Amino acid sequence: MVRRGLLIVLSSPSGAGKSTLTKRLRNWDPSLTFSISATTRGPRPGEEDGRDYHFTDDTAFRRLVSEGQMLEHAHVFGNFYGSPKAPVEEAIESGRDVIFDIDWQGAQQIKNSALNKHVLSIFVLPPSIEELRRRLIARGQDSADVIAKRMQKSWDEISHWDGYDYVLINDDLDVTQSKLETIVSAERLRRSQQPDLVDHVRDLQSQFEEDTA
Ligand code: ADP
Ligand code: 5GP
Repeated sequence: MVRRGLLIVLSSPSGAGKSTLTKRLRNWDPSLTFSISATTRGPRPGEEDGRDYHFTDDTAFRRLVSEGQMLEHAHVFGNFYGSPKAPVEEAIESGRDVIFDIDWQGAQQIKNSALNKHVLSIFVLPPSIEELRRRLIARGQDSADVIAKRMQKSWDEISHWDGYDYVLINDDLDVTQSKLETIVSAERLRRSQQPDLVDHVRDLQSQFEEDTA
């Protein structure tokens, strides 16, 4: 029986570090599949279409949603974002874990889907609001306007922290990365992630019955 992959969902207020952590997790385990979201926001310097996001327009995005091609989607900071369904299904059916960098609305939709048993959700908190602002500025990719908008919305996102399986305070990056690796390693041992256990226990039962006959 093929093990179905985990859907590893990472959320945080913008700037807390989830893209950085996602990249580090993928370097740690290159077999992790990154769910490349579709978005109507424009690319940032250094972002590549098809690698970081599928950049699209409103009409094409709405079509994908109406055709049922999105696993989840949401309106965030004035743009649409969504996770295309087909690549996720293909990966998890062949036993590969998929990592999502999505907001709380998307996390909730995935948790409420039929795949719920295979979802691992992790929320990343910043050490402080001041540090969150510092990181958004240090990233150097958004205008002062956009940063102000993201800071304003950060509480909306943080207020959903308690809907997640795990919550990490991303203070020291190496420490947070190591905690993430521990979580993923442990969750891969979940009963639902080990379908062969049923056969193994059946075997043990036959052996037990023979042994005690
Ligand atoms: P998000 O994806 O949550 O919006 P990013 O991963 O882009 O956030 O991180 C925002 C900025 O903060 C980046 O410049 C990143 O290098 C930096 N950063 C991330 N985690 C830490 C950390 N633990 N300590 C210091 N800087 C960090
Ligand atoms: P950014 O514009 O900084 O890349 O992302 C803005 C916010 O949108 C982040 O909170 C990010 O996690 C979220 N996001 C990115 N892709 C998706 C997606 O496919 N679905 C949902 N629901 N949120 C997403």
